[in-house]
Amino acid sequence: MSKRDYYEILGVSKGASQDEIKKAYRKVAMQYHPDRNPGDKTAEEKFKEAAEAYEVLSDSDKRAQYDRFGHQAFGPGRSGGGGGYSGGGMNMDDIFSQFGDIFGDDNPFGSFFGGSNRRSSGSRARGQRGSNLRVKLKLNFEEIAKGAQKTIKVKKYVPCNTCGGSGAKDKNSVQTCGTCGGSGQVRRVQNTFLGQMQTVTTCPTCNGEGSTVTHKCTACKGDGRVYGEETVTIDIPAGVQEGMQLSLSGRGNAGERGGSAGDLIVLIEEEPHPQLHRDGLNVAYDLHISIPDAVFGTQVEVPTIDGRAKIKIPPGTQSGKIFRLKGKGFPNVNSYEKGDQLIQVNVWTPQHVSDEEKRMLEKLQASENFKPKPEKNDKSFFDKVREMFS
Ligand SMILES: [Zn+2]
Ligand SMILES: [Zn+2]
Repeated sequence: MSKRDYYEILGVSKGASQDEIKKAYRKVAMQYHPDRNPGDKTAEEKFKEAAEAYEVLSDSDKRAQYDRFGHQAFGPGRSGGGGGYSGGGMNMDDIFSQFGDIFGDDNPFGSFFGGSNRRSSGSRARGQRGSNLRVKLKLNFEEIAKGAQKTIKVKKYVPCNTCGGSGAKDKNSVQTCGTCGGSGQVRRVQNTFLGQMQTVTTCPTCNGEGSTVTHKCTACKGDGRVYGEETVTIDIPAGVQEGMQLSLSGRGNAGERGGSAGDLIVLIEEEPHPQLHRDGLNVAYDLHISIPDAVFGTQVEVPTIDGRAKIKIPPGTQSGKIFRLKGKGFPNVNSYEKGDQLIQVNVWTPQHVSDEEKRMLEKLQASENFKPKPEKNDKSFFDKVREMFS
């Protein structure tokens, strides 16, 4: 099935502003809303189509991709598309969760389309979802380069063992909610500018849980969770970077009364290396050698991310020369690409000399060999810097 143009679906021009797109989507969404067209499959398809178009056009990155590549941008062949809409279109839950942003406070469909209510229709909502938790994780260069498994202790809400998360003292303390009869939802008829509409809202008595607790668990005071600690093992892929976040689904704070847990978000921090500097995938190292070593050539050991490496300094090496250790940099977390280690040579100039050294140097001063004779300067300073950090 070939897809219709997103701009055409919403009835806007290619240059439409975000505001125009939002307004157009509101219009189309209201027209084809399933509650205004019960049982109408065509309307439902149009409703989904509009939601998908809005999902893309309301996001400037996705919109730019769509403008360049069309529907191809999100086809199964492109991994960069992301989002739940690629492939088989959006599901209703995604669409309804969009409604919060698009209609804001004047949502004509009431809280029916708040997302979570919709999701739970048919089954009772359990307690509130736990919040996400953020932790920082410090990694050294070696751990970043090779990937690591880290075990950390996280202080957070955990399900109450005493009541198994229900928040009730015992089985008999849980009663079906009298207001909603256990469904967690109450229906009411509302007058809106679109006419009379039946809306379903979360039961105010039980907050959608369908039951109330008469005697609370004493260990958790009815919350179904207590503040505690959990040991979490995290697998860090090789090649992460300062500021990256890993999200561990369901490892955040436990929800209240059996609600699902939030996520644990791990923020990566890089521990600085005493000698190496990171620049993207590359690693830079400043090497200092003596004047005689620069003249005669030598072999030196340099630190790398994983242990030490030997490099040969040829005779007559100039200060500023950059050597490259291929593949000794960081791996890219998303590909097989690997950076290099760049070693810049600095010839060390002594700051104090003995009388004897002074006399030797004075002789050398006169020598023709010691007068600077730079080769035709084919690499400017900026080229060198670029080479070093590219
Ligand atoms: Zn409890
Ligand atoms: Zn209720």
